[in-house]
Amino acid sequence: MTGIPDVLVVGAGLAGLAAARNLARAGHTVHILEKSRGVAGRAATRRLELDGRVVPVDHGAQYFTAKNQRLSALLPKLIQQGLVREWARSFPALKPGGIVAQPPRHPRYACPDGMSTLGKAFWQGWEAYDQPLPLEIEALVTGVQKATDGWTVTLEDGSTRSGRALVLNMPAPQALKLTQGQLKPEVQMALQAVRYAPCWAAILVPRQLPYLEWVGLEIEHPVLVWAALDHTKRAAPEPAVLVLHASPGWSQAHLELDPDEALRQIIEAAQELFGDWVGQCRTAMAHRWRYALPTQTHPWPYLAQENLVFCGDWCGGPRIEAALESGWASADYLVEYLRP
Ligand SMILES: Cc1cc2nc3c(=O)[nH]c(=O)nc-3n(C[C@H](O)[C@H](O)[C@H](O)COP(=O)(O)OP(=O)(O)OC[C@H]3O[C@@H](n4cnc5c(N)ncnc54)[C@H](O)[C@@H]3O)c2cc1C
Repeated sequence: MTGIPDVLVVGAGLAGLAAARNLARAGHTVHILEKSRGVAGRAATRRLELDGRVVPVDHGAQYFTAKNQRLSALLPKLIQQGLVREWARSFPALKPGGIVAQPPRHPRYACPDGMSTLGKAFWQGWEAYDQPLPLEIEALVTGVQKATDGWTVTLEDGSTRSGRALVLNMPAPQALKLTQGQLKPEVQMALQAVRYAPCWAAILVPRQLPYLEWVGLEIEHPVLVWAALDHTKRAAPEPAVLVLHASPGWSQAHLELDPDEALRQIIEAAQELFGDWVGQCRTAMAHRWRYALPTQTHPWPYLAQENLVFCGDWCGGPRIEAALESGWASADYLVEYLRP
């Protein structure tokens, strides 16, 4: 033991947390650094204070699928603990001619207390023998340096943290910026090849909600691609919350808009589709996801340069299932790499 953790993980997204959880279970010491105030990254939940209650609202990932073996094996435990529930089997599509029902397919799972619950489950653990993983929040990493016995990262405040191995869990362009000048050409090229689509998301708390036959709606429209009645994921259906996602094309063209102006334009488009009630809100807000969904991914579940590992939904992805699989695969790799 050198006094530094075996593995330093930068980014408490689902991939980083899944990697850290399995490394800890394999007996390795880990330390996680996260720039924001909470865990789960893009599986994000905004907590609104409404009617004297805290209402969780998912404005990033809306639901997840569980087709791969490791996630399907874990799911019954998460469902049994009340962290996850099946939300839908398909979503109708809003086409120019009207709403078209879709046949039921594989389950889509949601978290009644918000998608960030999934991140918290990985951070705190779900088995009696799990301990919460060592985590520093509001710890923005601004530099990464190879050291003789591992890697050292520099935080915004100038302090440093080290690990015998380093996992970077963040969108590929951000990982590339941090590791500039320290990568083998093939690793650098793999990171450079990854592409993303942005997404403007809006949360609306309408004063009145008409009866709607859907919980989530896929939309064919130049401005909007998705609408969800977020409250239908929870046991308490009040107050009603509508989440809207703008299309990749519109989001890209309006990426630098002021959030209030983006919100105004999204509401205007939604009013045309759904009616005036969309514009009559108790509260409304917009959030820009610059790196929302990878459109060109790396073919393998992780990318490694010896004791430096990149993971995330851009590895073998996209989406939550891929992010978790990427974290688990990174842990498998490092367990082998760190074997004495
Ligand atoms: C609008 C939207 C809708 C989506 N809908 C779905 C859906 O319905 N179903 C689905 O399966 N997936 C969906 N996704 C995708 C899903 O959210 C992601 O695939 C998944 O959450 C990615 O996890 P990750 O761990 O790879 O990355 P992230 O969640 O991006 O985690 C990276 C973490 O690293 C932190 N970080 C970054 N840089 C630094 C730094 N320098 N220092 C410290 N910390 C840092 C970030 O704050 C973040 O917490 C959606 C995403 C968005 C944005």
